[in-house]
Amino acid sequence: MTLPFELSAPQSHAVDYQHFILDSPSPFHAADLVAQRLVDAGFSLQDEADPWDASPGGHVMVRAGAVAAWVVPDGLAADAGFRVVGAHTDSPALQIKPSVQSAGPDGFGQVDVEIYGGMIQNSWLDRELAAAGRLMTADGRQVLVRTGAIARIPQLAIHLDRSVNESLSLDPQRHMHPVWTVDSEADLLDLIATAAGLSGRDEIVSHDLILTPAQGPGTFGEGGRFFASSRQDNLSSVHAGLRALERLAETGTAGSGDVLVFMCFDHEEIGSATRTGAAGPILETVLRRTAGALGRRGDEVERMLAASSCVSADAAHSVHPNYADRHDPAVRPVLGRGPVLKINANQRYATDAEGAALWRRACDRAGVDSQVFVSNNAMPCGSTIGPITATRLGLLTVDVGVGLLSMHSAREMSHVDDLLALSQALEAYWSGA
Ligand SMILES: [Zn+2]
Repeated sequence: MTLPFELSAPQSHAVDYQHFILDSPSPFHAADLVAQRLVDAGFSLQDEADPWDASPGGHVMVRAGAVAAWVVPDGLAADAGFRVVGAHTDSPALQIKPSVQSAGPDGFGQVDVEIYGGMIQNSWLDRELAAAGRLMTADGRQVLVRTGAIARIPQLAIHLDRSVNESLSLDPQRHMHPVWTVDSEADLLDLIATAAGLSGRDEIVSHDLILTPAQGPGTFGEGGRFFASSRQDNLSSVHAGLRALERLAETGTAGSGDVLVFMCFDHEEIGSATRTGAAGPILETVLRRTAGALGRRGDEVERMLAASSCVSADAAHSVHPNYADRHDPAVRPVLGRGPVLKINANQRYATDAEGAALWRRACDRAGVDSQVFVSNNAMPCGSTIGPITATRLGLLTVDVGVGLLSMHSAREMSHVDDLLALSQALEAYWSGA
């Protein structure tokens, strides 16, 4: 199809990002999509239960909602290390409880949910929600599934709560209870089974399902520069890393001489302490099995780790124009002025001077601007996978990410220029900056 106009580089990156978000309603979908796209780019799929493949070229492995890729150069040097880009596939969501549904008052049918992660609850009201995740079948298969818009948490009319604009207080059990039907005997799990191509709910033994906003992403504002969507924390980083690896695979760039690793964890939003989270063993498993398959033994493995580094990419905070005093008075990251380097004295971010210098080299090499985030001392600081990775593995780690407004809202806001710039800086890091 020929368009009547040409997209700029950030706009075409944003179009691909839009598709990536649409196709990644759950961490399982995101991990699967990263693997599929890398296989299309020539990577080979690794089964964890098989002997580890570290032959020259790209490899990718999926473990539930996490995905790891590694690219081994031809003729690995004795002093080579790993260049790791870390990100996470999960976002705040409403996880469907084992009971799945219950009868509400007056004939309403409601979806029973647990709140996953630190969501801004009010932003999830009045949004159509889709179900997505994985089903385990009686014959032992895992099936990914997604539905269209099936539920919604309606707000209370202002006439029934005149104080809503002064103080909205939401009880997570009572008030965050989505409606999906009325005067009907319909079975939600049956509907989900059908959406998955199964014959009915009897085929489902267990499930990991969430409700997530069904509305697709969109651009808005002057020149279409602003990008609005759910799950940008942290699909903005997963997609940026994926595109960087795809470009490296296309151009056949030799890279840095190090082993390139892309590690997308799950469960960052709930503290990372799981078998697929950053506090678990998955990254170390990937690094040690790769080193082992490359013939490294004992101290040679430790040497390889010592020569390694990690760029931990996770969404960052842009200054908010309506709450300008919540930020540091002097250090003011703004949407559109480049990806953000995150610094915190209490090591809620892992960045130190050495990591900051590494990031600066990557941005210089990519020709992109970068900006810095540091907290206002009166505001507690969030954290991310960077400090956890640094603490577990001792890797030199730097925390970066795309600036957002409305982080953990059901619809977050970014800038298309930053999305591409992050991807370019990650590519430059992997290329040897
Ligand atoms: Zn995040």
